[in-house]
Amino acid sequence: MFVGIDIGGTNIKAVLTNREGEIYSAKSTGTGKTIREIDDTLVGIISDFMSAFSNRGTLQAVGIGAAGSIDNSRGIIIDSSNIRAWKNYPLARNLEKRLGIRVFLENDATVAVMGEWWQGHGRKFRNWIMLTLGTGIGGGAVIDNKLYTGQSGSSMEFGHMTIDYRGKQCKCGSMGCLEQYASASALARTAQSLLKKYPGSVLNLRPKGEAVTSKLVYEAAMKGDKLSVLALEEIAFYLGIGIANLVNIFNPEAVILGGGLSKAHRMIFPIVKKVVAERALPGLKDNVKYLAVKTQDKIPALGAAKVAIDSLGL
Ligand SMILES: [Zn+2]
Repeated sequence: MFVGIDIGGTNIKAVLTNREGEIYSAKSTGTGKTIREIDDTLVGIISDFMSAFSNRGTLQAVGIGAAGSIDNSRGIIIDSSNIRAWKNYPLARNLEKRLGIRVFLENDATVAVMGEWWQGHGRKFRNWIMLTLGTGIGGGAVIDNKLYTGQSGSSMEFGHMTIDYRGKQCKCGSMGCLEQYASASALARTAQSLLKKYPGSVLNLRPKGEAVTSKLVYEAAMKGDKLSVLALEEIAFYLGIGIANLVNIFNPEAVILGGGLSKAHRMIFPIVKKVVAERALPGLKDNVKYLAVKTQDKIPALGAAKVAIDSLGL
């Protein structure tokens, strides 16, 4: 058996699976704030799996996906915008010491792509790209049935593609990066900026002091709230520009959306398709399928388990 874990800024999601990707059990819990808290949560989840399913076999390895820059060969989190306390933190080695089992670490976007490739839409195509819409925008590309990772294992930072060279300042140091315009955080910011202009919006009825979240906005948009629809249309437009660039570069069979905001795909895709039709090259933009990850809650954790399976050479 293998455990796959996806550590997000808010939640930790874990699955216990076999080599074929059959899920025996799944868990979701709050991430916690301190390094110690997160380590203890991870150890707790893995120990619980081991004791509850010991009759199914032995645990071979653990795979973990975490946001930030990762040194996967040493199992170190170099830096993470989600969990600030992680600076050059040897997460994999610490867990190995406590659990007595191999632990492998990867970037969260990479495990999301791995999961989709292994058990999602990715199985059907040889050439496809994926964008994960969350706090930032992550990505991945499978080219001729191989996951492309560049020379250092951390390529496909679609979120930092420049779409406006004089645009908004990005925390990466550049300006006008796609994730400043089309991520879940960008949706929340865009909606926030429209609150005064649309006093009748249901977003103005939220409890005092509560922040406008992307979830709040897309749920309101689904119910037809004008402000929320406009905000979602705006981020979908920018996402379309980013995807038009990617379609010209990769000529993919499919563009797959993952991450929390992919749940709004029914509202996002029509606009993305229109922008791509207007901007991408004939021949390259034809026959591209637009799909959203189906089991968003489990796919990245499954992908993390797959990383562990592959790392052991099984
Ligand atoms: Zn950037």
